[in-house]
Amino acid sequence: MNNVVQTAFDAYDVESIRADFPILAERPYGKPLVYLDSAASAQKPRRVIEKERECYERYYANAYRGDYQFGMHVDEELEATRARVRDFIGAAEAEEILFTAGTTMSLNLVAQAWGRKFLARGDEILLTQMEHHANLVPWQQVANEKGAILRFIPLRPNGLLDIERLDDVLTSRTRMIAITGMSNVLGTVPPIQEIARRAKQHGALVTVDGAQSVPHQATNVRELGIDFLAFSGHKLYGPTGVGVLYGRREFLEAMDPFLCGGHMIGEVFWDHSTWAELPAKFEAGTLPIAQAIALGAAVEFVSEIGFPAICAHDAELTAYACLRLSEVPGLTIFGPEPPQRGPIISFSLKGIHPQDLANLVDRKGVAVRHGHHCTMPLHTLLGVPATTRASFGVYSSRGDVDVLVEAIEFARKKLRVA
Ligand code: PMP
Repeated sequence: MNNVVQTAFDAYDVESIRADFPILAERPYGKPLVYLDSAASAQKPRRVIEKERECYERYYANAYRGDYQFGMHVDEELEATRARVRDFIGAAEAEEILFTAGTTMSLNLVAQAWGRKFLARGDEILLTQMEHHANLVPWQQVANEKGAILRFIPLRPNGLLDIERLDDVLTSRTRMIAITGMSNVLGTVPPIQEIARRAKQHGALVTVDGAQSVPHQATNVRELGIDFLAFSGHKLYGPTGVGVLYGRREFLEAMDPFLCGGHMIGEVFWDHSTWAELPAKFEAGTLPIAQAIALGAAVEFVSEIGFPAICAHDAELTAYACLRLSEVPGLTIFGPEPPQRGPIISFSLKGIHPQDLANLVDRKGVAVRHGHHCTMPLHTLLGVPATTRASFGVYSSRGDVDVLVEAIEFARKKLRVA
């Protein structure tokens, strides 16, 4: 750990952060909640809950429609979130920030609205072997429709991306590289900037699935040199039902709309229509209004803690958890060694099915996820149908890791695993 990171960690007051999250005072089965499923969805700090409530209680109305006081207030709040998100991810313009329902919708939007218009037979889309289904299935669909081909950057046995094999799969036919910013299973963080630089040399665009990376590391779309970035509010301590798609203006302008209906039109005739300016062109229908407004509070919350502190906390906790878990007999951790990974740790335990393990540790108040985590092909590659996953948020602590390890020991004893 370098000095800057160490200093940021020393200043990290996990107890005061925890105090911001009302749910952490809950006691499942009368035990303190040990919430280790932040990669599935993060808990919400008080200010996010209050912001959503404020909208409903004090000025709620539909957005971009009402020229009355509440209508205009809602519009101002939404534009404040949009501007905050622009700054948070280093975009050039607020109009490049689209509100969506979440990462899944954002990625479907790119695959459909860009892919249908710009892919031709024989074109290639380059993914990695660790993509979430949300960044795989939409590309399969558009590839089938257009006669395009999917290729994959392979993983090394240690779970890192085999970037040296990039030249084998990045060709003159590659039109799009769609890649996760952080694997939701392995915690692997690909070198996005380097991949984007190589993509540009081949004239390919780059989409980043930031569902896991945006909550855990500073993201600057212009410094990274990427064209699209998708992420979800609910993994960033914000509400469910809202997410973001960042797209570079020139591509958003060139694409056709994804969803059609109210608000996204310029003029409508009986037989055809024209489109609204950005961002309305991609925001058909009624937005998740209160949720998008409260997303601004989530972005503010994360920005106040700051990524130097978040990254230092993640690194310290991940290293500690990997060490403690590796001491459990029969436990295999998938993915790279710390510090080359994010705070998401999937593992298997010899002799115990991941579902049984998750159920048994739950009795000790520990919430972990089990299953294929929407990455079936990756699990095939790992040689296991399912894993158990512990993932951390800003409120996670060493104490949480200790309880997890104790709970796993309890499960081993209960099932008499040698
Ligand atoms: N991509 C990754 C890497 C994810 O972890 C997830 C959520 N599990 C998604 C995409 C989909 O996000 P959402 O369900 O919020 O649309």
